[in-house]
Amino acid sequence: MKFLFCAIAVIAAGSGIMFWIIKNGDPVSANGKDPSYEQDDDYNSGPEHPINPTAIQDSKFGIDRIKDGQDAKPVAFNGKRAMGYLETICALGPRVSGTKSMRQQQDIIKKHFEDLGVKVTYQAFEAKQNSVKGKVEMTNIIISFQPDKKRRGILCSHYDTRPIADQEDDPRDWRKPFLSANDGGSGVAFLMELGNHMKNLKTNVGVDFVIFDGEEYIFVPKGTNKDRYFIGSRHFAQTWRQSKGRCEYSAAILLDMIAGNEIHFPVEVHSHNMAPELCKEIWGIAQEQKAKAFEWRRGHEVLDDHTELHKVGIPAIDIIDFDYPHWHKLADRPESCSGESMEQVARVLSVWLQRTK
Ligand SMILES: [Zn+2]
Repeated sequence: MKFLFCAIAVIAAGSGIMFWIIKNGDPVSANGKDPSYEQDDDYNSGPEHPINPTAIQDSKFGIDRIKDGQDAKPVAFNGKRAMGYLETICALGPRVSGTKSMRQQQDIIKKHFEDLGVKVTYQAFEAKQNSVKGKVEMTNIIISFQPDKKRRGILCSHYDTRPIADQEDDPRDWRKPFLSANDGGSGVAFLMELGNHMKNLKTNVGVDFVIFDGEEYIFVPKGTNKDRYFIGSRHFAQTWRQSKGRCEYSAAILLDMIAGNEIHFPVEVHSHNMAPELCKEIWGIAQEQKAKAFEWRRGHEVLDDHTELHKVGIPAIDIIDFDYPHWHKLADRPESCSGESMEQVARVLSVWLQRTK
């Protein structure tokens, strides 16, 4: 694992508090993506309670209080097959929102789940990005298991490719084909393979796999503050909040960069602030399942799609390997990913799905 120096300075600014992470000497923002991001008024309503640095170490695992489903076994998730799905998706090239390859990806996902007999809903909408003329078509995909159940859980991920690989040092590389295998591809591949096993899982809740568009439809380089993140998850969250007779979402688990060759999942800070019990459940099950990538220690602060769900009252956490060395680089390709890593995540989530209520 590469050396990581992470320091946090708290800068009180106006009515908000800005957190800065220094990663390998480069300042990146709380979302880890764009230092200017917090200046967007729309996003200033993020998590309000900074985590007590000792809180994670002092907490007890949720496993202590989980009674139901103690005998739950993980599914036989096939990492090799999941890698096959990842390669198929990446063979489309970059899947930027509104492009032909994005539509082809949608077709692949829809066919996969419909062939499994599962209900697939496209939540299509138009979005305007600040730095782009005109609107772009975006589509969240909702895959519903036991759609009649009112109480439901969410597993989610984004599936769009960032249009610029702007962690490359040379700006001339930014617009070269960026496959975003782990960042955008891995969540889809994971859910496709998990979908093969859902019929074998006895769950108390209905389950929605929600695949977000427009997580990072970002055209301006780091250091500028023009473009909006999380367009798809925000649309999903607001639509749910406004819908009459809506279902109840008891929990949402966001998956982001889960398939790197050497994964580490310390507890993402906003997740622990927003949904500490859910973190304890997941990391507790990971301990039980000997899923060693799940490390019960304080991780990065990362603004991500989970914060949009939290804003509308859905307990939401992010399982993210933010130390993935190929993040927003051209080397984020299938060969930088591993089926065994996805199997580890599946052991934890498939047990959690059987226990959650
Ligand atoms: Zn990204």
